[in-house]
Amino acid sequence: MSVRVLVTGGTGLVGQGIKYVIETEPENSTFGKQSGEEWFFIGSKEADLKSQEQTMKLFEKYKPTHVIHLAALVGGLFANMARKLDFLRDNLLINDNVLHAAHEFKCKKVISCLSTCVYPDKVEYPLDETKIHQGLPHESNFGYAHAKRLVDVQNHAYKDQYGDNFTSAIPTNVFGPHDNFDLESAHVLPALMHRCYLAQKNGTPFVVWGTGKPLRQFIYSRDLAKLFVWQLRNYESVEPLILSVGEDEEVSIKQAADALVSAMGFKGDYRFDETKADGQFRKPASNKKLLGLLKGTGFQFTPFEKALDETVQWFRQNYETARTGKKQ
Ligand code: NAP
Ligand code: GDP
Repeated sequence: MSVRVLVTGGTGLVGQGIKYVIETEPENSTFGKQSGEEWFFIGSKEADLKSQEQTMKLFEKYKPTHVIHLAALVGGLFANMARKLDFLRDNLLINDNVLHAAHEFKCKKVISCLSTCVYPDKVEYPLDETKIHQGLPHESNFGYAHAKRLVDVQNHAYKDQYGDNFTSAIPTNVFGPHDNFDLESAHVLPALMHRCYLAQKNGTPFVVWGTGKPLRQFIYSRDLAKLFVWQLRNYESVEPLILSVGEDEEVSIKQAADALVSAMGFKGDYRFDETKADGQFRKPASNKKLLGLLKGTGFQFTPFEKALDETVQWFRQNYETARTGKKQ
């Protein structure tokens, strides 16, 4: 049986992580490409997935049997606060079009990507796979959160009405090569990496936004990529699966910034701008279900400092072509 895997959002941080794993892990190993598999990594230049017509044409062209659906309007706290309607509407359209096309083309399996940002703000911690719909999301990202939560609703509806094998993955904060390093709209680690790089280059202070006190769990994009590949082959439930490091690996924004300063060898002035928002204080997610399922696969998370070093190295080597927004 031929397996044709379409990765939407294949040009982004997570998509390029999966491409790296597929191209570098030994063929037919647990996380490597299997004989007979074909993988297609597509970005928005190939099809605007907000358009139903372009989405159907894309599926007609690739005839995927499996889909890893990553494409989304994605951004950090400050982009989410500024563009709530865009985050709601673009993601509603993209997700509805992709799931509808996958149903029409009788795809055997679809994994769509959610995020721990979609969880309720006020809920008992740790977050687990049963708590997505148990209250309102944090106000800073309610557009993105509601759009993403609906994917889980749609997955259940497709399964109940048609028996479709659609499911979802819930990563925590991701970082790695090919991230969006825009100073304003990016997530915290890539935005700070870029800001620290400029501070080092220009001899100016390195400014971290907010108090530095909020806590986050970070996952390396190349680790997450292995988990997606594994999930595609081994996970058959409609219920979402959290893809995360352990709850005990929460780090404060200050600890993350300290690690970044050290990885970049930055020696200058370093301060916090407390006039900027902190966002959600924490959202610790449990990876208990994941670890139970991964037994025997040999999967190991890359230590945070090592992953950060690799990302800094990639950023320095690719500064001219990386997604940095406007050069300064
Ligand atoms: P990213 O680097 O910004 O990549 C986004 C991808 O989506 C790109 O390939 C982009 O294509 C594509 N895309 C955006 N709008 C599109 C459209 N209208 N039509 C077709 N393709 C479109 O984002 P990422 O961080 O890899 O995110 C991937 C998934 O992980 C998303 O579903 C996101 O919600 C989820 N996630 C991310 C994080 C995180 O910390 N980054 C955390 C949890 C979950 P172009 O390259 O052509 O623009
Ligand atoms: P979140 O996990 O969805 O909130 O997304 P982010 O990756 O944007 O992380 C936001 C946290 O990092 C908040 O506590 C911010 O105050 C803090 N932070 C510090 N500096 C920055 C920055 O330059 N950009 C972003 N996005 N967040 C920053």
